Amino acid sequence: MVLIGIKNRLIFQCVDLILMCLQGLEVVDNSYFITEENIGMLKLAKDANTILFDYRIPLAGADTCSALAAASEKNNSNGMVMNGLPISIYAPETVGCAVVDSNGFTAAATSTGGLMNKMTGRIGDSPLIGAGTYACGHCAVSCTGEGEAIIRSTLARDVAAVMEYKGLPLQEAVDFCVKERLDEGFAGLIAVSGTGEVAYGFNCTGMFRGCATQDGFMEVGIWE
Ligand code: ASP
Repeated sequence: MVLIGIKNRLIFQCVDLILMCLQGLEVVDNSYFITEENIGMLKLAKDANTILFDYRIPLAGADTCSALAAASEKNNSNGMVMNGLPISIYAPETVGCAVVDSNGFTAAATSTGGLMNKMTGRIGDSPLIGAGTYACGHCAVSCTGEGEAIIRSTLARDVAAVMEYKGLPLQEAVDFCVKERLDEGFAGLIAVSGTGEVAYGFNCTGMFRGCATQDGFMEVGIWE
């Protein structure tokens, strides 16, 4: 079963919704996604005056970590811990997709709930073409992680640019961009090339991902 929440944000999400209804997917109210764990994590983030992203690891350094850990203790969080920090049992919000067809046409799409405790009205990388999402004849790319870092490095477009200008194959272009362009933030991406190569890369602890091909190959992964 797949459940789709109605987000109140952008027109393209309404289009998404119509398409999903046409596919027969169940649509639920936003309240479905308001869980005790997420309310708890939001409270932790507010108390620690930080924002959280995938795996609920704080974006900043040691001070923020201790603030978050202290807030967790005080609020008696759900008890799940990663790297000494509290985490939610709810998965990250990003849903990204990069595809290529048998003619070499590529497409990418990215949807996100943003970062927990983000500033009201913040626009992340996901809807910015060239930052969190990009597709051209060389490749299609969809990013996840700390949007500000992704925007600063125009990460998705840079993968295509490195392929185009340096002549590198997809995985090498991805590795180059993750290493050289994401120096100040945690993020990751999935990508396919116009010739059917599949690649991913991230500089954070892990990234939920999957791959499926026409001939039935399927693979999922979280860690490196
Ligand atoms: N990149 C998104 C943002 O910064 C978060 C995510 O979904 O990974 O808004």
